[in-house]
Amino acid sequence: MFDKDTLGKYAELVLKKGVNIQSGQGLEIACPITEAYVAHAVAEKAYSLGASIVRVRWEDELLDKINYINASEKALSEVPKWFVASKNYLAEKGFCYIAVSAEDPAAFKDVPAEKTAAAAVARSRALKKFSETVMANGIRWCVAPAPSKAWAKQVYGDGEDSVKRLTADIEKAMRLDLPDPQAAWEKHVQNLERRAEILNGHKFALLRFENKLGTDLTIGLARDHVWLSAREKAADDVEFIANMPTEEVFTAPHAGIAEGVVKSSMPLSYNGQIIDDFYIRFKNGRVRDFYAEKGNDALKNIIGTDAGTRRLGEAALIGKNSPVAQAGTLFFNTLFDENASCHLALGKAYPTTVKNGRALNLKQLKALGANDSSEHVDFMIGTPDLKVTGIKNDGSEIPVFTDGEWCF
Ligand code: ZN
Ligand code: ZN
Repeated sequence: MFDKDTLGKYAELVLKKGVNIQSGQGLEIACPITEAYVAHAVAEKAYSLGASIVRVRWEDELLDKINYINASEKALSEVPKWFVASKNYLAEKGFCYIAVSAEDPAAFKDVPAEKTAAAAVARSRALKKFSETVMANGIRWCVAPAPSKAWAKQVYGDGEDSVKRLTADIEKAMRLDLPDPQAAWEKHVQNLERRAEILNGHKFALLRFENKLGTDLTIGLARDHVWLSAREKAADDVEFIANMPTEEVFTAPHAGIAEGVVKSSMPLSYNGQIIDDFYIRFKNGRVRDFYAEKGNDALKNIIGTDAGTRRLGEAALIGKNSPVAQAGTLFFNTLFDENASCHLALGKAYPTTVKNGRALNLKQLKALGANDSSEHVDFMIGTPDLKVTGIKNDGSEIPVFTDGEWCF
């Protein structure tokens, strides 16, 4: 649990740097009922920053579980019209949106997977319009973590100090432990932007990853690829930061170019399953063979999802000295785990990681080499000795990472 002082800093940070709330603007907060004090603090601060109205959508995993167990698949697949309308309302009225993330990674482990899947598919179909608006930055949004008891238990076990330890990790990752978190974030974001700019200037054709673990992989980058980082612009031209924490600078690989082998450096937590100690070998951009010491069937399922999950859709660079990486812990929460280590993703590339990508159709994106799939699964490859080299079209080489950290 955050103490009062930290909570004040947290609220100010997610409102100012996160969604960048403007005077007269409405705000919706999605928050687990177990962490209600966080929503209360954010709501109060939002008004002091000029919010017109704050609405909260309470989330309750325990009740969700009761529903999953007792309701039929058919009933769970019915999404009320009012729910869809309430989400579309946010975009229509120009609200911004904060999601407090404190999920219990094991919340639904005793629930039949068909039921959670049926509800998830129905919800994503019903909210298609809303999620397209979000992905195209039609509204300003921010996901930020809060330490819940259930989440802490999964990370640090039953012990008394679990929540304390997770709280400290979150404070460090969000730079709330520093005297001026706002200033620290500005510096951090500018640093990521500077690196993205340097990478964009180089217009690399290839990236090579090497380490002692056995990774020796060369990937192509999509034509017209763009390196992105923390700060984005919404449709209304106002800047915001969608994820807190965020440490990555990332872009789109070329789906047709990847040669060599890559070794996982951290366990991959996927749909409640752990996949660990694995390699994937690529040939002509496509997965040629793979093996996981733990969870090989789950890895097989991911790779076999569709044609796109046999190819790469993201390359992301994160230095080993980032606060999330330094925790050295698996958090079972994407917001954290993908910011702990350099990673690649199997599956779909973000359209925004190629120039003008939001205006391009699938065929045009594919022509540039940006991968398409119904999935996007990150896996960690960063190690303390990771070396990353950028290779230009003329064959010249520029060091990007040495010993797991940025060269610039
Ligand atoms: Zn990423
Ligand atoms: Zn990703």
